[in-house]
Amino acid sequence: MLQICHEKQVQLSRQYQQDTLAHAIIIQGIEGAGQGALAKWLIELLICQNPLSTTNAAGTETISEACGQCKACLLKKSDNYPDHLLLKSENKTLGVDDIRRGNAFLEKTAHLGKVKTILIPQAQVMTIAAANALLKTLEEPSANSYIVLITDDLDSLLPTIISRCAVYAIRPMIGEALLAQLKVSNLGDVQLSSSAPLTNKANDTAYINLSHLPELTDKIVHQEFQVFNQYLLDYLLHGQSEEKLLSQIVDNKYSLRWLEKITCNLMREYYLVNATDQTLLLIKQKISVQVLNQIYQAIITSNKLIKSYLQANRQFVGEQLLMTINDIVRP
Ligand SMILES: [Zn+2]
Repeated sequence: MLQICHEKQVQLSRQYQQDTLAHAIIIQGIEGAGQGALAKWLIELLICQNPLSTTNAAGTETISEACGQCKACLLKKSDNYPDHLLLKSENKTLGVDDIRRGNAFLEKTAHLGKVKTILIPQAQVMTIAAANALLKTLEEPSANSYIVLITDDLDSLLPTIISRCAVYAIRPMIGEALLAQLKVSNLGDVQLSSSAPLTNKANDTAYINLSHLPELTDKIVHQEFQVFNQYLLDYLLHGQSEEKLLSQIVDNKYSLRWLEKITCNLMREYYLVNATDQTLLLIKQKISVQVLNQIYQAIITSNKLIKSYLQANRQFVGEQLLMTINDIVRP
């Protein structure tokens, strides 16, 4: 089981205790970040009739959580809790009928008299019609209902949806933290010096829910991803392909997520496997994991910049980012 993002858990707990929690919440993170675990924790907390709070020794952080024993918690555990709705689709997309089902659910009175919660685990697969139907609900939030959306791709949600939600972006664990977590998860056979590749079990833990990512399911996007990956490696290793990379960052809506994903995965490779791939070996020779981490941080900063300002100039942010990466790799 993935560890829950501690920072977001503290933040959400505080808002829960102060009763300032938004009624529509987006939890965003690239695969493996544990967004599902965070959403699960939050919904269980909202549902619980007798939640618990734990404060750390320094008295600086309090985390709330479901008691696990009240009537609501027990019903939720056995999947019989009547005031929670999971909205996911068997199909590739989440359609307007699914969202209408959610709206009808919210209109009914809560059986247990507390809150009603809806979880949409793959919000990025909503159709435009579905998103517009959801928008109506978000515009008239009811006091005792919470809608939690999970997505790995904020760019594919309508800006009007995003602007009506509180967005919590989480990052996957990398480096030592990831390694520690894998050991905790009883996958202790994964070692720094091990020449064996990762077991499937470990892979499942580190990379979850890949099937809906366009670069893995759509042939054309997959090819674009491969080309983008090559541009980035050319740039990191040899200072080449700068213009091609920049034009991708400007024009391709997935580019910043891809930058984040590629660097993050590269860092994981450092810790988790002995490389046999020639390019990876070259990267390990030329770029230390500390440098890679600096690049990753710069990418996150740029990504935040683009997401937080509607008017953010992708050209400018992209140029700045490549300059920063260049300074980091070739000081
Ligand atoms: Zn409870």
